[in-house]
Amino acid sequence: MNFTQFGFDDRLMEAIDAAGYEKATPVQEQVIPHILADKDIIASAQTGTGKTAAFLLPLIHKLLTNKHDPHTINALVIVPTRELAIQIAQHLEGFSYFAGISSIAVFGGGDGNAFVQEKKALSLGAEIVVCTPGKMMAHIKMGYVKLGGLKYLVLDEADRMLDMGFFDDIMFIIKHLPAQRQNLLFSATMPPKIRELARKILHHPVEVNISISKPNEKIIQQAFMVFDTQKIPLVQFLLKTKKFNSVLIFCSSKLSVKQLTRDLKRNKVDADEIHSDLEQDKREEVLSNFRSGRLPVLIATDILSRGIDIDSIDLVINFDAPHDGEDYVHRIGRTARAAADGTAYTLISPKEQRKFAAIEKLIGKPVPRGEVPEFLGPVPEYNPIGNRTGQSNRKKSGRQSKGRS
Ligand code: AMP
Repeated sequence: MNFTQFGFDDRLMEAIDAAGYEKATPVQEQVIPHILADKDIIASAQTGTGKTAAFLLPLIHKLLTNKHDPHTINALVIVPTRELAIQIAQHLEGFSYFAGISSIAVFGGGDGNAFVQEKKALSLGAEIVVCTPGKMMAHIKMGYVKLGGLKYLVLDEADRMLDMGFFDDIMFIIKHLPAQRQNLLFSATMPPKIRELARKILHHPVEVNISISKPNEKIIQQAFMVFDTQKIPLVQFLLKTKKFNSVLIFCSSKLSVKQLTRDLKRNKVDADEIHSDLEQDKREEVLSNFRSGRLPVLIATDILSRGIDIDSIDLVINFDAPHDGEDYVHRIGRTARAAADGTAYTLISPKEQRKFAAIEKLIGKPVPRGEVPEFLGPVPEYNPIGNRTGQSNRKKSGRQSKGRS
């Protein structure tokens, strides 16, 4: 479907052309007409599907074409992380370049200057505000935030926000909004708690499901059965044997991020880390180095598995098994974006085998096994249900096939 079919304002069409978008993505095709028709929406759509433009474009169109007070907050977009807030604000800046829509991103971790700027914008009114829940709640409590004219509320990555414990903050913010408004809820997954949130805040929503619980076909996937102690040497081996330009490695804890980064650096790998212990400035600097290609290897906690869109990543390594199938698809979906191909390696320790079996079930097929180099020694047997002893799977005579056992 072509963007001309939505009947968008010319100023917005100019920005869409400038962004190089030709055809609407499936989520845009399904969601935009309903938003233009003033419907509430509950959409299950993951990052990478074009969901940001799916809500920003119709909101900007509505602000351009409907009478509204530009000196109040007209639309509030609530997101889980500052990285996502910054990214959406950047999209917003691009899309509203020819439209003159005012916007601001409000998120924690900034300095005093940022706070003063946010306070000014929130009290004078910015047409679209993108915020993280905690920081917005703090501003609202101070009493100067102009929310009386609000018409549109977007909750993006709602499942993530609930996982991060933002339910109360979100409800606090919503209590301060006019009851008469259009609500758009986007979530990668639809667990019962999201349904409950939807029941509380949406009015007769249209339901759209673009969930892709299957990995992108372009991604070459491999899983390596290893012992925990073999993980770091295997990562070093994988990074050395094939040339990758931009590598994102996910760990499930800050501790393993720090440990892996230290070990890789010691082995002369140009790597850096990103996690919630870092100051905001440092996080932005690391991300910007990675995004620009100056930093080839980034090691991250799950904070980056969703929402961050960097098109050039050619290898994702799951240093620890992802929590579930959706997380697996999210994480490996950081590669093979746009037109590029990508590779995803997942390292599975014996105690993660059960979780990995569930992931394979969800994605509907086995992930091909990768060869663990012989110098790393015996590898564990793959037996997710019974054998949790982690016995060696390497035949005495030499290599063993890594087909499914
Ligand atoms: P999102 O799912 O919002 O994170 O978007 C993923 C990526 O797709 C971003 O880099 C967008 O700029 C890009 N994108 C969104 N919509 C389109 C479109 N209709 N055509 C081409 N690229 C798009």
